[in-house]
Amino acid sequence: MVAGRLQPGGGARFGPLSLVDEPPPDLPGDGWVRIRPRLAGICGSDLSTIDGAAARYFEPIVSFPFVPGHEVVADLDGSDGPATGARVVLEPVLGCVARAVQPPCAACARGDLGGCERVAFGAIAPGLQTGFCCDTGGGWSTELVAHGSQLHTVPADMSDEAAVMVEPTACAVHAALRCEVEPGDVVAVVGAGTLGLLTLASLRQLTEPARLIIGAKHPAQRRLATELGADVVAQPHELIRAVRRATGSLAAGSQLTGGADVVVDCVGSNESLAEALRMVRPRGRVVLVGMPATVDVELTSLWHREVDLRGAYAYGTEVIAGRGAVRTFDLAFELVQAARLDRLVTARYPIDRFEDAVAHAAQAGRRGAVKIVFDLRSEKDRYR
Ligand SMILES: [Zn+2]
Ligand SMILES: [Zn+2]
Repeated sequence: MVAGRLQPGGGARFGPLSLVDEPPPDLPGDGWVRIRPRLAGICGSDLSTIDGAAARYFEPIVSFPFVPGHEVVADLDGSDGPATGARVVLEPVLGCVARAVQPPCAACARGDLGGCERVAFGAIAPGLQTGFCCDTGGGWSTELVAHGSQLHTVPADMSDEAAVMVEPTACAVHAALRCEVEPGDVVAVVGAGTLGLLTLASLRQLTEPARLIIGAKHPAQRRLATELGADVVAQPHELIRAVRRATGSLAAGSQLTGGADVVVDCVGSNESLAEALRMVRPRGRVVLVGMPATVDVELTSLWHREVDLRGAYAYGTEVIAGRGAVRTFDLAFELVQAARLDRLVTARYPIDRFEDAVAHAAQAGRRGAVKIVFDLRSEKDRYR
């Protein structure tokens, strides 16, 4: 088995990441199956982890050494169950059901898997998701184990490229719904990488903003932003001016007097959060979708203007007007097909070129790319 495996520590690029041959993980218990990845995506959170930029916060809720990769479309292993040969998408959160925690925590009982309170406990090692847990393996490999409750069957007419976009799209769908957009709102999106573009598509599909404005720098990002439903695509340094124009605000210094009803930060840096606070209206909402680490941001305007700052992580169950409770992954499957989000997969790499793949993902926007994936479909080790 080949795998990109992370050891603790790091700091230097690729420092903790190495390619190793090792036996696949054992099945942790009843209800677990083996899956063989076909495509596995590289997420911004993977890049932060490899760079050693992820927060110490994660230490108690991950377990080393782990194989990264939580955006996965895979084949169910033939020897493990009746659904031989079925393609599946992994829902990577390792909640109470996968951990055999009885009774499940309040969040899992509600179906809010992303809010599970037991990701460091139960029958398997700590790990908030597959791809951060030493017992499960991860998507950047030829084989891992998954609990049956984590698997969603891929429709026969859906490509692998579309299926690998389901997990990041589920994050974006949940984020768009966390924005609680009211009809007529002006919504601004900061960041036009994978998460920014997917959040834009989700906002367009699931909410009714009067104006949906995004800052996007690179030509491919700008084209995709238009195709996915942005009303205004501004250069990043012009985004605040576009919001000012759309809302009839004045500028007092670098701060808008009014601003967007909702600003969605799909980057998670000092700069992006500071920018979001400059362009949100008083009593507006900033939703943090891009994974931040430690940020150093002036919060006086948040205090003075009574702005709400909220996070958006993962997925679970959403309540949709007219439909009731729906799994976020089901909404993501629908959106990937309706908005043809497979087009965001712009490069595929074999696992032994993991350094090139990670470097490409880190510079995706500049190099005209969006989502970079590992292609494991022709790895010899899949056919032992
Ligand atoms: Zn991710
Ligand atoms: Zn739970």
